[in-house]
Amino acid sequence: MPFLFVGHGNPMNAILDTEYGREWERVGQTLPRPTAILAISAHWLTPGSTRVLALDVPRTIHDFGGFPQELFDQQYPAQGSPEFAKKTIELIRKTEAVEDYRWGLDHGTWSVLKKMYPQADIPVYQLSIDYSQPPEYHYQLAKDLVELRNHGVLILGSGNIVHNLTAIGRNYDWAAEFDGIMEQHLSNHNHKGVVDFLKLGELARLAHPTHDHFLPLIYSIGLQTENDEISYFNDTFDFGTISMRSVLATAAG
Ligand code: ZN
Repeated sequence: MPFLFVGHGNPMNAILDTEYGREWERVGQTLPRPTAILAISAHWLTPGSTRVLALDVPRTIHDFGGFPQELFDQQYPAQGSPEFAKKTIELIRKTEAVEDYRWGLDHGTWSVLKKMYPQADIPVYQLSIDYSQPPEYHYQLAKDLVELRNHGVLILGSGNIVHNLTAIGRNYDWAAEFDGIMEQHLSNHNHKGVVDFLKLGELARLAHPTHDHFLPLIYSIGLQTENDEISYFNDTFDFGTISMRSVLATAAG
């Protein structure tokens, strides 16, 4: 099974007809049909633990404010996958992951899946991000998940390669520069360059005042094997400082 990193950006992409949403639709139609979807979203941060959503029927979480009622009315009624949640916990050797029955599907997950799989007929579960851990830790943990790809699980990292909400609304050279550097690293399979993004100093701080939206990308590259070929879609900026660049990796041949 290929894996995906999607730049999710504005939750309104879930209900508006945007260029981004249309690409999500297209990608959903192109991929082989997954047996389940494991989402790793920038919006489920659990400092000090790693949790796996194990509910039969996860609720739709509207974890945002200041949006129209129509967005709060959205539901994504997919089933969960307690079975794959259990399997995932077994596979994780990096730490002792635990089952979770409190979270649900946050907007990093459902706003994208609503367009990719509008029927909500594929089971979906999530893995939380232990936000107390450094980038390298997440890269290593992701390697424990590679096996899931052989079981037809689509692993979806959901964040943004550049995500600065305080400078929003203008185009900046630093945004394009950071995005371009990451594109180079991704295309060259230079994982170290991505994982060590904080070494870019001021450039990294501008691109990610907090790095929650970057960590899902680190999970995605941790899933990459030698045979995977990388391609991009939605490689533009929304509101100037949100890179929507998304990454699809498919096994060659
Ligand atoms: Zn977000």
